[in-house]
Amino acid sequence: EAAPEPRSGRSAALRARMEERLLGARFRYLNQQLYTGSSRDAAQLFRADPAAFHLYHQGFERQVRRWPERPVQRIVRYLRRRPASLVVADFGCGDCTLAASVRNQVHCFDLVPLSPRVTVCDMAKVPLAAESVDVAVFCLALMGTNLQEILGEANRVLKLGGTLMVAEVASRFEDTRAFLKAMTQLGFRTVSKDLSSSYFYLLEFAKTGPARPGPAPGLRLRPCLYKRR
Ligand code: SAH
Repeated sequence: EAAPEPRSGRSAALRARMEERLLGARFRYLNQQLYTGSSRDAAQLFRADPAAFHLYHQGFERQVRRWPERPVQRIVRYLRRRPASLVVADFGCGDCTLAASVRNQVHCFDLVPLSPRVTVCDMAKVPLAAESVDVAVFCLALMGTNLQEILGEANRVLKLGGTLMVAEVASRFEDTRAFLKAMTQLGFRTVSKDLSSSYFYLLEFAKTGPARPGPAPGLRLRPCLYKRR
């Protein structure tokens, strides 16, 4: 067989580059939708267009691969140090890396099933009984603008004294102290905070009681928008 013409080789490379750009643009658009709307809007978006979800996840994987460490691995290490009998709820579980890496029973929630372990639902309303889990996890998953409702749901399903683990992109925190203060109003005491990574913060809370109603103004995170590369 003859080698391809240099010209067609060039146009194939050009086409690949264009496709890559389009995928990148589509990912950034979807990502922006997720961070600037409520969790219900996100549920609707992906229900209407499951292909968009897969595209979003490809883009997410590409972003996180650039980081020195995947935050979910920190949560895995944390759980391995604690009894395997603890029941875990993983809010926005993605591909269920957490459930696949620990011996605990893990309830996995996401909008579309990337794995058969996933229960499809909006994280603001998960099908679990009140005070039924020991550990609730949000690993890069606090995306919706209705943060208070989402964290209120975590409070509802957690047992008193249960653990809430949050791993979030560092640059999303405008005012970490105000955020932690707002968390006390939602019924969570800060147990530890690891702010040492420039990529993500790892926060551990304990449930002190039910969330108190009323506004929690410090509970704000910037959207995590990616730049065009
Ligand atoms: N925790 C995983 C995935 C993080 S990506 C990890 O660390 O690898 C964020 C995940 O949250 C995505 O899978 C996204 O689909 C999910 N998500 C976003 N909004 C959601 C919602 N309203 N309800 C359930 N899952 C949601």
